[in-house]
Amino acid sequence: MQSAGLTQVVTENELIAVKLHFGERGNTAYIRPIFIRRIVDELKALGGRPFLTDTNTLYVGSRGESLSHLETAYRNGFTPYVVNAPIIIAGGIRCSTAEEVTVSGKHYQSVSIAKELLEADALIVVSHFKGHDLTVFGGALKNLGMGCAVRKGKLSMHSSVRPFVTEERCDACRLCIRWCPTEAITIDEVAHIDPEKCIGCGECFPSCPQKAINISWDSASKETQEKMVEHASGVVSHFGEKVLYLSFLTQISPSCDCWPFADAPIVPDIGMLCSRDPVAIDSASYDLVNQQLGLADSRLGKEVSAGEDKFIVLYPHSDGMVQLKHAESLGMGTRKYSLKKIK
Ligand code: SF4
Ligand code: SF4
Repeated sequence: MQSAGLTQVVTENELIAVKLHFGERGNTAYIRPIFIRRIVDELKALGGRPFLTDTNTLYVGSRGESLSHLETAYRNGFTPYVVNAPIIIAGGIRCSTAEEVTVSGKHYQSVSIAKELLEADALIVVSHFKGHDLTVFGGALKNLGMGCAVRKGKLSMHSSVRPFVTEERCDACRLCIRWCPTEAITIDEVAHIDPEKCIGCGECFPSCPQKAINISWDSASKETQEKMVEHASGVVSHFGEKVLYLSFLTQISPSCDCWPFADAPIVPDIGMLCSRDPVAIDSASYDLVNQQLGLADSRLGKEVSAGEDKFIVLYPHSDGMVQLKHAESLGMGTRKYSLKKIK
């Protein structure tokens, strides 16, 4: 953190938002609180006043509103005794307290970002780098874009996701119903999705064991990634130089930490990255994962050689480069990077 320029980000007595993901209840791949403690201690040593923060989720789960979100964070070990900092769930109890930030995007001219986050003086973005069913991978850009937006913004980012059921595959097992936050799914002989009720949260399709629920992957993933990046651009422009990014390349699961379980890692642990550039840190994380040997005993389903793209094997229908290219085109950073190894 010092090497990446922490002292230019943190000033004495300033409020520092440490944006992270506390892990869904039952998940075991999220970043361990003991690492967050070390980050908090560094910020305090410089005179900063850090707090840990995240926004509530769109879907049904243990972080859908602020009370259960806080309880989940405590259960997962993020207590003041461990992390040495308070937790503030940004966006209020129902994830609706926001400020509009002006952006110059393809989809938006302004984005709704959680107010408590924007009220901080500086931002430390701590991301667990891993795969993601809709956006291919999740790193700093996703932590910023989806993670700092309030419900209105999250809904808008998912608006291109329109799931449909392939009836021949559906055996009416009812598993998908559990995950739908809007009761859009009904079952008779097969599942049906009510397009009027569906908010496109995307929780149903990975939950179906028969792969009966699908979306038009190309367009949905591309548009969601672009919209996510434009939300991220609002956060980045608001904080200017007062942002630092950390990426944890540990327990690199095929899906995100929003699931109440963690699938086997797709590659061995790599380490941690720190940068002032969200595009560079995500690009380097992506490349480092792909430089590893892909583990056969994971959702990859086979040994994938070092150098081969693991995310294409996992998500052949989508292109994760969309988010990096779009962020670069918006001037948020560069995909070119150099790695400095710290021992
Ligand atoms: S049907 Fe729509 S709202 Fe329900 S889980 Fe699926 S994507 Fe989300
Ligand atoms: S989880 Fe899949 S197979 Fe089961 S009811 Fe839903 S769509 Fe059908």
